[in-house]
Amino acid sequence: MSNRPPFLQSLDLDQPGTRTGTVYLVGAGPGDPELLTLRAARLLGMADVVVYDNLVGKGILDMARPDAERVYVGKQKDNHTLPQQEINALLARLAKQGKQVVRLKGGDPFIFGRGGEELEVLAEEGIRYEVVPGITAASGVSCYTGIPLTHRDYAQSCLFTTGHLKDGSLNLDWEILAHPRQTVVIYMGLGALPEISSKLVEQGRAASTPVAVVEQGTTRRQRVATGTLATIAERVAEQKFKSPCLIIVGEVTQLHDKLQWFAGSVPQLATAVA
Ligand code: SAH
Repeated sequence: MSNRPPFLQSLDLDQPGTRTGTVYLVGAGPGDPELLTLRAARLLGMADVVVYDNLVGKGILDMARPDAERVYVGKQKDNHTLPQQEINALLARLAKQGKQVVRLKGGDPFIFGRGGEELEVLAEEGIRYEVVPGITAASGVSCYTGIPLTHRDYAQSCLFTTGHLKDGSLNLDWEILAHPRQTVVIYMGLGALPEISSKLVEQGRAASTPVAVVEQGTTRRQRVATGTLATIAERVAEQKFKSPCLIIVGEVTQLHDKLQWFAGSVPQLATAVA
């Protein structure tokens, strides 16, 4: 590895024996393969190796070069994911072998995607990388459920938060989350939904505030449960919702009934025009 700063290392590519690969940290969107960016699709078509995990839909992997190596680093049978440090080391190792690596992440790699952690290691090791944004679950799911995240009548701001902290605790800023006239989108919150709902009510958000929980949004298996802060946890438990689920809290979720349009598939353009 050269001692040049990372931003100059591309120059090393021309020198024999020093060629390293590039890691492309690519957002795969929330599920529907058609929500990939053109850039993501192009990179998938050229990568030597694709490193992916649970949240990446199969249709998306099919877009990889047929002979590309596919490396799964998601939940294993014992329900354990490959430790983050091992993923970081794997990406660095593949790039050092001169491979063009696509690291696929569900949604957007910089929103609750640990993309930053993976890049820190690459940056420290002077490995070239690029980041391709993706449609984050909040955007994809809200559009595919007819729930606009902001609306002049109901919410002037929208806040994304996680319902699952690194140490397993749920130590969020409840006072801010409970403000009225805002939409709160909670990633990874399914397991803590009863606690989240009651904390928001405790901090002053009305128990009648409408809530939607969306399972596997934008895919054929999309399901939506609606209720209020008082009722939603029970409804979701009754319907046995499983991860991945996005929780949307706020008056905008009432619009789902009126604005929903997605019934498990999006018409192909040709069919829609015909
Ligand atoms: N980087 C991703 C988020 C990763 S955290 C993004 O930008 O979307 C994983 C969480 O995202 C899941 O627990 C769930 O809360 C949410 N999520 C991702 N895809 C989803 C989908 N298709 N439907 C519902 N929630 C989803």
